[in-house]
Amino acid sequence: MQKLEEMNILEKDVAPFLISAEKVAHVQPENTLEHALLVLIKSGYTAIPVLDTSFKLKGAISKAEILDTILGIERLEPERLHETKVNDVMSTSIACIKSSAPFERALSYSINHPFICVEDEDGSFIGIITRSKLLAYLNGYLHDQRKKKS
Ligand code: AMP
Repeated sequence: MQKLEEMNILEKDVAPFLISAEKVAHVQPENTLEHALLVLIKSGYTAIPVLDTSFKLKGAISKAEILDTILGIERLEPERLHETKVNDVMSTSIACIKSSAPFERALSYSINHPFICVEDEDGSFIGIITRSKLLAYLNGYLHDQRKKKS
């Protein structure tokens, strides 16, 4: 089979994989953990982006981070849910690329991140790319390559 680095798929633009911002569940840094947990539970996602009011990416918040915050020594302390802001708990080391980035960069980030945030040239959030979409595309591409060879 042709080597992956010889295939132009790696230089392919990531734009076709984008889930656009209006379809992405998100919270704001000033929201309480209670609000964030409700959004996470209702959407069914493990983690979602945190955006400020001008749609700039600030971080990501996960169910695990919220549960960790309410974990007391001997009991859960749910009162912390409305006392704590998303800003205090969110993770700021998130995978983020420009929409002009190549497939190769998104694929490499997806090793450690289930989703990758995408910004435009001005730094405004325009959506996410999920690991599952990248892998599904790669899987289809490799199958097509094999069919062409046989
Ligand atoms: P998936 O590959 O579809 O399972 O998505 C992987 C992860 O990407 C999910 O667990 C979420 O953290 C995030 N994600 C996917 N789609 C959305 C969405 N529409 N809004 C917010 N986060 C999402």
